Amino acid sequence: ASRATAALIDASLAAVAAAIDAAADELGRMDSIAGDGDHGIGMQRGSRAGADAARAAAEAGAGAQTTLTRAADAWSDRAGGTSGALWGEMLRALGARLGDAEAVTAEAVAEGVEQAKDAVMAFGKAKVGDKTMVDAIAPFADDLARRVVAGEGLRAAWGAAAGYCESAAQSTAELAATLGRARSHGDKSIGTPDPGAISFALITQTVHRVLAQ
Ligand code: ADP
Ligand code: MG
Ligand code: MG
Repeated sequence: ASRATAALIDASLAAVAAAIDAAADELGRMDSIAGDGDHGIGMQRGSRAGADAARAAAEAGAGAQTTLTRAADAWSDRAGGTSGALWGEMLRALGARLGDAEAVTAEAVAEGVEQAKDAVMAFGKAKVGDKTMVDAIAPFADDLARRVVAGEGLRAAWGAAAGYCESAAQSTAELAATLGRARSHGDKSIGTPDPGAISFALITQTVHRVLAQ
């Protein structure tokens, strides 16, 4: 079961890298309004390195945790920047919950996503409303968990949570940034969504397309 999961992780990260390539210019433009403009390029470097590492691990027969941990290390090493470190934390936390040998259930995925949210919030110290990727991660994780606990299957629950996440990410346009590089230009960001929230939502939508295949 875990080897099938590693193959799904590999396919998901390959699709994520392609989706990020297509969105990179727009992510960079959003980041340039109140940040330093490198979110597109950083996510491209990180997601490509993560996908390559996941492919190598899955082909070598690694389980889910090892595949995600290798992807996490490669992503944070190659991306640079805050978001790269946070994506490393997220993939590592998800992997720790899934393990290498256990069967991967919808409950395990939902709990792993909650633990990824907790890891980002512990590492970055952002709260909901600070105009960061947490404003997309928290609604996604909480909606996914609620649906899985209510008995929805993983695909349906993930798809619905990803749709909710997309509107939450877009709603960050209304907020002023308070953390990180964007802080000194906080007011300038009003009207533009947080790039890290938008890329997180794009990634959840992309993974849903892979789960639905
Ligand atoms: P950098 O800010 O180092 O240039 P990126 O441009 O790749 O890195 O990523 C910026 C994104 O990182 C922001 O849009 C925001 O979503 C996220 N981010 C920044 N600081 C934090 C934090 N403390 N907690 C959570 N997310 C953060
Ligand atoms: Mg940046
Ligand atoms: Mg930067």
